[in-house]
Amino acid sequence: MAAKQDDHNRTMAYAEVALSQIKALRQSAAPRNYEIWYIYATGHNPALNKAINDTLTQRGRLSDADLDQLYDDYLSQGQTTDRIDRIGERVASEVDDIMVLLAETLGSTASFGENLRGESDKLSTATDNDQIKAIVERLVSATREMQRTNTALEERLSHSKQEIANLQVSLEAIRAESLTDPLTGLGNRKHFDRAVAEAIRSATAGSQPLSLLMIDIDHFKSFNDTYGHLTGDQVLRLVGTTLKQSIKGQDFTARYGGEEFAVVLPNTPLRQAIIVADNIRRLVMSKELKKKSTGENLGRVTLSVGASTLKPGDNAEALIERADACLYAAKRNGRNRVICETDPEFCNVDSAKVA
Ligand code: GH3
Ligand code: MG
Ligand code: MG
Repeated sequence: MAAKQDDHNRTMAYAEVALSQIKALRQSAAPRNYEIWYIYATGHNPALNKAINDTLTQRGRLSDADLDQLYDDYLSQGQTTDRIDRIGERVASEVDDIMVLLAETLGSTASFGENLRGESDKLSTATDNDQIKAIVERLVSATREMQRTNTALEERLSHSKQEIANLQVSLEAIRAESLTDPLTGLGNRKHFDRAVAEAIRSATAGSQPLSLLMIDIDHFKSFNDTYGHLTGDQVLRLVGTTLKQSIKGQDFTARYGGEEFAVVLPNTPLRQAIIVADNIRRLVMSKELKKKSTGENLGRVTLSVGASTLKPGDNAEALIERADACLYAAKRNGRNRVICETDPEFCNVDSAKVA
């Protein structure tokens, strides 16, 4: 029920921003315009926001034509499946064109072969120079024709190679996007699931340690309730940036959902993982939050962290469950702390003692 209320509050905050932009710029509140401004308010499509901000800076307004263009460029193409379908259509059309060209080239090669055989038969019965000269001229001309056909095929194939390379780049961009959390730019839940499974496979194969951190922002609901969801989103971005800055090498970080994050630490024993976790905790706590638009001081947010490490026979679910249980222990023990699954006296890093 609380989550439902929260969703309601968040969507209302986005809706208010969308409508206030529509009012301020005196646009119609048609569904398309509303969609553009709603997505703008969520910040989930940074390219759209940049295009809108740039246009407003340059011209101070957005015309209907601008809105059409923005919609076409950033929203109507936004559906991953549509984009993949379009790439599929382009690949199919490339393949069709090449098949036609190959069929034509095969036909030309066959008739060239017949030509050669015919001229070769005539050559064996030719009796004077004029006849031989005529045969050679016909051979030269047929060869030139064949060369032209081959060159056309080569050019078309090289064009196709380029086109397919471009399509590969587009597919890679879609793949990366489908694994990225739009708000923070970190990996999303799907990416996290894959990364943990892969990390467990390679840690098991190489008999190396592997640790996992589950991180949750403390009292974030009341932060949102006090300062609004859009400011809350800024804080989620800040935590995302801090996480990115705190990891290195093979480490991987993702937004697990809502205000929960995860860090996968390959080749890292638990003791070391706790140090990483506590650095993250302190770094986030050290940031004085300010509202971008007004400069208003928003205080600080703190994190609770649970850390687990891979045991023989563990699967992803077990590893995550133990980190989660530690995270809840951290919450129960007062928040703003790191708790790991072994030796609580050693691993329970209390912020009051270490800060
Ligand atoms: P605790 O210390 O026990 O974790 O308390 P909490 O308030 O952080 O936990 P709770 O699970 O009650 O609330 C999580 C809140 O996180 C709810 C919602 O306001 C916020 N939240 C989740 N996803 C988003 C988001 O995408 N944007 C914003 N702004 N807030 C979000
Ligand atoms: Mg939570
Ligand atoms: Mg929380």
